[in-house]
Amino acid sequence: MRIDSKLPNVGTNIFTTMGRLANEHNAVNLSQGFPNFGADPKLLQLAADALKGGYNQYAPMQGSVSLRIKISEKIETLYEKTYHPESEITITSGATQAIFTAISTFIRPGDEVIVLKPAYDCYEPAIEVFGGKTIPIQLEGLNYTLNWNTFKSAISSKTKMVIINTPHNPAGTIWNEIDMLQLQEILKDTNIILLSDEVYEHIVFDGKQHESVAKYPELASRSIICSSFGKTFHVTGWKIGYCVAPKALMHEFQKVHQFNVFCVNHPAQEALAKYLETPEHYLTLGQFYQEKRDYFLNAILGSRFKMIPSSGTYFQLLEYSDITNETDTEFAERLIKEYKLASIPVSVFNLDNLDNKQLRFCFAKTNTVLDQAAEILNRI
Ligand code: PMP
Ligand code: GLN
Repeated sequence: MRIDSKLPNVGTNIFTTMGRLANEHNAVNLSQGFPNFGADPKLLQLAADALKGGYNQYAPMQGSVSLRIKISEKIETLYEKTYHPESEITITSGATQAIFTAISTFIRPGDEVIVLKPAYDCYEPAIEVFGGKTIPIQLEGLNYTLNWNTFKSAISSKTKMVIINTPHNPAGTIWNEIDMLQLQEILKDTNIILLSDEVYEHIVFDGKQHESVAKYPELASRSIICSSFGKTFHVTGWKIGYCVAPKALMHEFQKVHQFNVFCVNHPAQEALAKYLETPEHYLTLGQFYQEKRDYFLNAILGSRFKMIPSSGTYFQLLEYSDITNETDTEFAERLIKEYKLASIPVSVFNLDNLDNKQLRFCFAKTNTVLDQAAEILNRI
């Protein structure tokens, strides 16, 4: 039988590839983004309580009511915008499902979706599966800034959606108020839907603030905002995320969601609802990861790698042009095989695999592992 692939050019993703290579070579693994330390025992206890407490049948299609109420309160307190728990919030299987379902809900064959590169890897295949066309725009320089004129001229009558991501994976950059106002101005009076990937919303450093789309009323009115408890509470394996949007957009989203998964893991949702009763659990996350970033950067001060400190996320880019001319994929592979240290080459996320000679390192690791990585980086 001949199989007619809808994604002929998609292979195994970079996180799986580098993770597998890291395991094969017993390398210190700073490649895929996940913490190597456990979640708060209080959260684990709440999960155990929920399992034993009878939350083992289907959750409501939109998600557990108590969790949706807590999310609504959190957004209201942080971003001064109210999303109604009944009609404007859906709990999803990680942000990945929220993104996939949002794209599947709105993208038809021929629709254009503007994606800023480097881009997290789950956006483009989803657009392609539903017949949409990605319009990629490369962010410029080692600061990965957007040229707003380029952005404006990329918009056409076929533009259906724009996807943004702040704090940004893999760049570690964040957008400020001016960026948001620019975007708001450009999208004003269009029918363009904004998909805002804010999974690292609580991981912002150096006293700066996360600029959620929710804070900008005109933007919020056209936006689906996605977030992830995996990132925020060190439980990437739970795959619980959520998205919020104005009622009319969420109504369409839920039409697809109910046939996509219907609902997601119920006991985990109940545990998260209780855990969210203490806002410190997410409000202290930025400080926690800022200390990790500083610990890692201080430990490699003497190395030949160059860096701009990450402003958010748990990723740090290191530039190696003083060390070798190898492409970033070649160098990343050699680092694993010869030095036993795994990272992610940034070019895989860039337009036409632009190679800025940078590798991405995940610093969501114990200080012992960060020390091991630093010792290797200082030797290179
Ligand atoms: N968006 C970005 C930018 C991410 O880095 C990730 C995963 N790390 C996701 C979405 C997916 O989140 P989840 O694991 O909750 O599906
Ligand atoms: N978001 C994680 C990262 O950027 C990876 C998640 C995945 O493997 N799909 O490393």
